[in-house]
Amino acid sequence: MPIYKRCSKCGKRIPSGTTCECIKQIRRQQKKERDKDYDQHRRNKTRAAFYKTKAWRLTKEDVLTHYMYIDLYAYYHDGKFIPATMVHHIVPISTDYAKRLDRGNLIALSDKSHGIVHKAMREGREEEMIRLLLEYKKKWKKKENSEVGGVVKLF
Ligand SMILES: [Zn+2]
Ligand SMILES: [Zn+2]
Repeated sequence: MPIYKRCSKCGKRIPSGTTCECIKQIRRQQKKERDKDYDQHRRNKTRAAFYKTKAWRLTKEDVLTHYMYIDLYAYYHDGKFIPATMVHHIVPISTDYAKRLDRGNLIALSDKSHGIVHKAMREGREEEMIRLLLEYKKKWKKKENSEVGGVVKLF
C-alpha cells in the first residue's frame, strides 16, 4: 500500500517520494526560460564578435563609400541629405546570419534613421521596413545606371 502525501503547491494527492506534475511543469517552464536566456546571450556574443571582424569593417567601409556616405533613408523618405555613419542589415543577422556580409542586404544610414528603422521593426513593421529599404537600394541603383560621365546625379 503506497503512502500518499499532498502536493504543497496544488494540494493534489500524490505517492510520497514523487514530484507532482504541477511542480514538474513549473520546472520545465523555468528551464525553458533559462535556455532562452542562454541562447539570446550566445547570439549576442556571436553578433558582437562579428562586428569586430576585419571582414565586417571592410564591408562596412565599402558600403558607405558605395552610397557616398549618404543616409539613404533620409534621402528617399525625407528628401534630405544626412551623412551616413553606419551600415544596417536590412534582414537582421539574428534572422539570417548568412546575410551578414551580403551587400544586397546592407544599406548606409545615419544613427538617427537607424533608430527610426529599428523602432518601426520593434513595433511590428519589420516586413514593411525591409521592403522600403530594399526599394531605396533599387532606386539608388537606377540612379547609378543613369549617371553621366561617371558622376551620380543627386539632384
Ligand atoms: Zn501539485
Ligand atoms: Zn540595424
